[in-house]
Amino acid sequence: MSKTKVIVVGASHGGHQSVLELTRKYKDLDIKLFEAGDFISFMSCGMELYLENSVTDVNDVRNFRPEDLEKRGAEVYANHEVTKIDTDHKQVAVKDLKSGETQNYDYDKLILSSGVTPNDLPVPGHDLENVYLMRGKDWAEKIKAKLADPTVKNITVIGAGYIGVEAAEASTKAGKHVTLIDMIDRPLGNYLDADLTDVLAKELADKALTSLRAPTLNPMKVLVRLPL
Ligand SMILES: Cc1cc2nc3c(=O)[nH]c(=O)nc-3n(C[C@H](O)[C@H](O)[C@H](O)COP(=O)(O)OP(=O)(O)OC[C@H]3O[C@@H](n4cnc5c(N)ncnc54)[C@H](O)[C@@H]3O)c2cc1C
Repeated sequence: MSKTKVIVVGASHGGHQSVLELTRKYKDLDIKLFEAGDFISFMSCGMELYLENSVTDVNDVRNFRPEDLEKRGAEVYANHEVTKIDTDHKQVAVKDLKSGETQNYDYDKLILSSGVTPNDLPVPGHDLENVYLMRGKDWAEKIKAKLADPTVKNITVIGAGYIGVEAAEASTKAGKHVTLIDMIDRPLGNYLDADLTDVLAKELADKALTSLRAPTLNPMKVLVRLPL
């Protein structure tokens, strides 16, 4: 009997977990995992550890290595972007980003775990040099270089959610003057009630930040929030 063909798009948390579950539960699968990026698999959750030097090699900030899944029988392809899905014929077109060649692959089951990309802010200046987004290996390396650069003195973080607070913390630990900005009135205000965020706001203002700017904390008309 021929094997069931499974194609997984995206080799991050979702893609990894899918292959683990499939190989735990089923035999006789032909699994191909396609990842557009050249690195498998950067763990954005671990970015702060890298930025604050708890992990010094960016290649260690990963969820898994290709061989971890290959040992379980899956084929893992970096630099392979899925460019088209043909559900009628159950095929995907995959472009090898190194050779430029595109090949079609049949599937019986298709798992899309292509994740998200951070939104740019829809404001003038969003594309200026030194405006960085906090996600993925490329951005992590750029941010890390700035944290290590002694000529960079001031860092402003837009968005006081979990990721913004992590960015602020890592920047403070790197000795920068940090301003954390949000359009709502409390850091982590979308997640926690005021009795907790009041403690956090004080802690941030006392220990970590040069300033915390939000409408009720500062009359400055604020602002924009970094979409996660
Ligand atoms: C700074 C930061 C800190 C975080 N901290 C935490 C935390 O502490 N706890 C927590 O639970 N979550 C955390 N998260 C969120 C967590 O990282 C995401 O929820 C998780 O990465 C989502 O995984 P995913 O597999 O769905 O997608 P993604 O991680 O977005 O991965 C999608 C993958 O698909 C690939 N891809 C996209 N399109 C194609 C295509 N056409 N062909 C081939 N490949 C493609 C992409 O290159 C990418 O590698 C954090 C995120 C960030 C940015």
